[in-house]
Amino acid sequence: MNDVIHLLPDHVANQIAAGEVVQRPASVIKELLENAIDARANSIKVIIKEAGKILIQVIDDGAGMSLTDARLCFERHATSKISAAEDLFSLKTKGFRGEALASIAAIAHVELKTRQEGDEVGTCIKIEGSEVVSQEPVVTPVGTSICVKNLFYNIPARRNFLKSDAVETRHIIDEFQRVALAHPTIQFSLFHNGSEIFQLPGTNYRQRIVNIFGGKTNEKLVPVEEDTEIVKIHGFVGKPEFAKRSRGEQFFFVNDRFIKSPYLNHAVVAAFEGLLKDKAYPSYFLYLDVDPKSIDINIHPTKTEIKFDDEHALYSILRSSIKHSLGQFNVAPVLDFER
Ligand code: ADP
Ligand code: MG
Repeated sequence: MNDVIHLLPDHVANQIAAGEVVQRPASVIKELLENAIDARANSIKVIIKEAGKILIQVIDDGAGMSLTDARLCFERHATSKISAAEDLFSLKTKGFRGEALASIAAIAHVELKTRQEGDEVGTCIKIEGSEVVSQEPVVTPVGTSICVKNLFYNIPARRNFLKSDAVETRHIIDEFQRVALAHPTIQFSLFHNGSEIFQLPGTNYRQRIVNIFGGKTNEKLVPVEEDTEIVKIHGFVGKPEFAKRSRGEQFFFVNDRFIKSPYLNHAVVAAFEGLLKDKAYPSYFLYLDVDPKSIDINIHPTKTEIKFDDEHALYSILRSSIKHSLGQFNVAPVLDFER
């Protein structure tokens, strides 16, 4: 008899899991922003250097963590957000897998400073390659600041695979915008190599879109509103004359989470039928609220895909409500000679 199976050491398991969760600096931004939101932050600041390859820092004014939790949060499957499998069907938080921080800590140098309301001092913990290097008391505001340095320092293949700073920064801005659009009442800022890229005050949905995409966006937005048993929809579609030649501003949010859905995109495009020129893509910012029981978000580690119970019903409700809005606003088809 020859036993050959053994359990992988934690740091190896974490590194493998990291391959799924963390593809590039933007994935780290997404996870850290979602954690800050789950901690009920009102204000979130993101600082990056060299497209996040050197530094990603996210500072929030949320609930913070206790001394013990500050250590535990880097363990795999360590989460405060669910405790039983059925909790997956009533999710109110962005996170639930308890994998992000463990993954990130396996492939970067991480420094976490955190303090809870009522604690006099906070705690500062440093981790490298899943190992705690130090933990000390620190004077720090209530909330959490997490620095992720030298991403993929121990996985050269991944590091070399990263694209140019311009491309990686674009991905970061995309993630940042998605989260900011989903949470307009939260204040967000983004700094890259010392310069301010975004400074977004807490506001409403329309104004958040305008603050991100510029003042001219305001007149382009047609409100969409629908309230049914299956789904509540709110948000905006761009008037047909502002449709783009490339897929740009197309956003679906389901229960405050950005998702990709070619199927629902098709419903929007169908609602614009006859109004758009060939090869033009409509802009949209659509927020769908559904019963958490009617969706499965746990299909992919990055959680950008969702399985809906009743996709067909959703499709037709979405299409007809957009059609209705476009009709109400007397939107005329765009004819070639108008250009
Ligand atoms: P998940 O978000 O799926 O629970 P993470 O690895 O992202 O897993 O985080 C682990 C835990 O660490 C969270 O459940 C939460 O309790 C805590 N945590 C992480 N980030 C923050 C933060 N910014 N503020 C407060 N607590 C946090
Ligand atoms: Mg998380």
